[in-house]
Parts: sequence; C-alpha cells; structure tokens
Amino acid sequence: MRRRLFALLVFTLGLSPICSGSLVFAKEDTVTDRPTYQIDATYMEKQEIVKGHMSVTLPELRSTPQKEVYFRLYPNAFQKWKYNKEAKPTKEGHITISHLKVDGVKQNITINDTVMKVVLPKPLPKGKSAKIELDYQLYLPHGGTRLNKYKNTVFLAQWYPMLAVKDKEGWHTEPYTTTGDPFYSQMSDFDVTFHVPKGYQIISTAKDLHKQKQIVHLQQYNVRDFVAVLTKDYQVLSSKSGKTKVNLWYTKSMEDVSKPLLHAAVDGMQFYSSRFGEYPYQEVDVVLGETGFGIAGMEYPGLVTSLPKVPTTEGIAPAVNVVVHELAHQWWYGVVGNNQAKEPWLDEGLTTFSEYLYMQKQMKQDDEPWLKRVAIKSEEIHKSAGITSVQRLYDYPDEIYGIMVYLRPAAMMFALMDEIGEEKVMKILNTYYHQYQFKIATTSDFFRVANQVAEKDLTPFFQKWLYFKG
Ligand SMILES: [Zn+2]
Repeated sequence: MRRRLFALLVFTLGLSPICSGSLVFAKEDTVTDRPTYQIDATYMEKQEIVKGHMSVTLPELRSTPQKEVYFRLYPNAFQKWKYNKEAKPTKEGHITISHLKVDGVKQNITINDTVMKVVLPKPLPKGKSAKIELDYQLYLPHGGTRLNKYKNTVFLAQWYPMLAVKDKEGWHTEPYTTTGDPFYSQMSDFDVTFHVPKGYQIISTAKDLHKQKQIVHLQQYNVRDFVAVLTKDYQVLSSKSGKTKVNLWYTKSMEDVSKPLLHAAVDGMQFYSSRFGEYPYQEVDVVLGETGFGIAGMEYPGLVTSLPKVPTTEGIAPAVNVVVHELAHQWWYGVVGNNQAKEPWLDEGLTTFSEYLYMQKQMKQDDEPWLKRVAIKSEEIHKSAGITSVQRLYDYPDEIYGIMVYLRPAAMMFALMDEIGEEKVMKILNTYYHQYQFKIATTSDFFRVANQVAEKDLTPFFQKWLYFKG
C-alpha cells in the first residue's frame, strides 16, 4: 500500500515531495504445494451482492496431519466498524457462508469476525488433498477500504474466503487493522468465472478480455491472491514492457493523466525488471481511482490501484510515485512474499526504496538529503516511543507507521549503497528475488542473502538501521 498520509508527513516535516498478470504457468500433473480455488461468482447489481460458489483443493504438502483449516473472511471487517472513524464505510458490508462440505460431506463451521474455522472430518495426512466447497454471499460496503462499490465500479479485494497460511509458527489468523496491510497469503491457482450485468467489463489478476461480456472465465496460476474490478466506467490505454502487457485503466475525469501514468508504468516495469529480475507474468493492470481513506494506492498480484494525482512541492501532479510504488510491490509482496502483518517493513521498505530509486534515476528527483532527515527523525521517535522498524503492524500508532516501516528502511538501502556500492545492492536484491521467487521470505532471509552477496557481515549495519542498536 502507498499511504496518502505520507504527503502530509512530508509537508509537516517541511521536506521535498515523496512519496493480470498472467504467465500461464503450466499446471503440473502431480499436485503441488499450491491450493486451487475455483470460484463461480455472480454480481447482482441492484442488491449490491456478489453470490459465489467456491471450491478449494488443499495442497498435499504438509509436515504433520492436518486437523483443521482456517479461512479469512476479510469483508466482515466492514460490519460493526471498530477501527478509525475516518475510514468507516458509509454502508456496511459483510460475508455469509453456507453449505460447506469437505469431500462432499457437510461440516460445521465456526466464524469469529474475520476468521472461519473448519474442522476436517478426519486428520488429513501428508500427501493427501481434500476439497472444501461452500456457497457465499458478499454484501458490498460503500466507502470500504479496498473492498468498495463506487458508482458503476466494484473493487473486489479480499472478496472470497481466503485460506489462511499455516507455516512453521502455526496458523496465521492475525486480526484486521486499518494501519497497513494485514494480509498474508500463499501462492495459489485460480479458476474464476464471473457473471456480470450487461455493460460491465472485468479487470483482474488474470489476463483480461478487454471487452464487455456477461460471462467471463479467467485463470491465473501461481499468485497470492485474486483481485477484480467490475466496471462500466473505465477505459484503457495499453502498451508493452518487454513481454508484459501494461494496461492503464481510467475514467473520463482522469484522462489528462492517462498518458504520463501509462508511460511511468511501462518505464517502472522495465526499470525494476532490469534491476531486480524479470516480471514473470504476461500482464499488469494499473487502475486509477479511490480505494479507501488514507490509501494512495494498493498492490495485488497483476493489478495495482493508484490515485490519479498527488500534491507535490510544484503543485498537483500525475501520481507517478504512487504508480511506481505499487508496481514495485509486484516484486516485493507479489513474487517474493512475506507476512505483511508480522514484518511489514520487508515489503514496504524494499518497495519504498525501489520507488525512490526510480524517482531518482528516471525522474531526476533527489530525495537523499530528505531521507537523511527522515533517519534523524526516526531515531527521535525510537528514543521516545521505543519502537523499531521491525515490529508487527499492530505495534505502530498510525502516525509513525510510515516513517518507521517505509521511510527508514528506504533510507537504510540508500546508506547501504554508500557503504558497499550500488552494484552490490542491486545484486543483493536480484539474488533475494531469485532465491525467494514464489516463496515466503523473512527478515533473516534478507540479511543472509545480503551478507552472502556482499561477502561481508552486514549484521551490525542492519542492527543499527532497523533495530536502533549500537
Ligand atoms: Zn506499499
């Protein structure tokens, strides 16, 4: 996510401005470690409901027999709103589940807010799969953060029951919060059919049709999530970055920024591909528009959202920095995953660094002096609040989240370039990208790769910058 509040932070500090896809991966014959989702969804425009039938085939890989499965029901965050009141939806939304079956046998479920627990009829051993089927009804909020119906457009983010992740630490069912992105998901395969009213087109994580059709079948393998925008109002400009088709979607009122932002998107994709490693999917969509209070943009696999314009010291300008921030997340979050609730700095810090590097190299905007001031300011915050840059999302008050999690790690990466050279830093990121492609990385994985590539123990450097030690 790119935070709209950044601009405020910047100006209060008196500083310079900042801040589907679809590689059709071969579906292996042998079942993999990825779940497969099949979703058949109907958008009922008048009722503002998405009615879905979903089946998930659980992956076979597990170390011990599995007794239960957890799903995330994020739309339930939009009922009985308990977060900051500025982000409160103007109309509440939620999701209901019915007819849940495991391998054809009806099972009881327990739902607690955004978490659903399904106890399996018998423990599932290693090497065996199970199919969970269910019906759901999604009641769309108005003014919801990310999940939102706005005029003739529906932003469908976290819009289906999403499998929670079970890793070495056990099941992750971290609560929803409006500070940052409280999401953690594993690579999955998707087969999604949409039924939409006449006149709608669908923009999604998968490779899209680019025409209006009432029944649309989409497939995308090897992605962490599946997002879709159903719209009557958007038009598109397209271009190519290497083998990847880049689409910029905008409404009539945003037409003036469509060309510069398409250019930024294409250039950004090329810039990151050449430095970090090739983007592995066939398409990426940039959808302009509002998707929630405090959010300037948001990342999903193969699709990002961005405000059309942002305030800068030279006045209102096309939101190049937001677009390239969100696109950098295709590398840091999309392809290399991490637990965004537990270690938000890992994707946001590297993404903010990528954004600033782009702005410096391609837009000739020099933010390094400003980032140096950010480093001093974050030290003051650490001294008074005792908080570091490597903590859980829930530990940060909203007003210091951006500086500690986005900006200080970005400043650290520029300092690392001063210390070991730009070429080595790019090699670290490139190696990290290739080693953790389609996997989940942690802070210590990043340190290990950095030390190996730099052929130097950078631990004291990272300790100082991220943990304020020494
Ligand atoms: Zn971000």
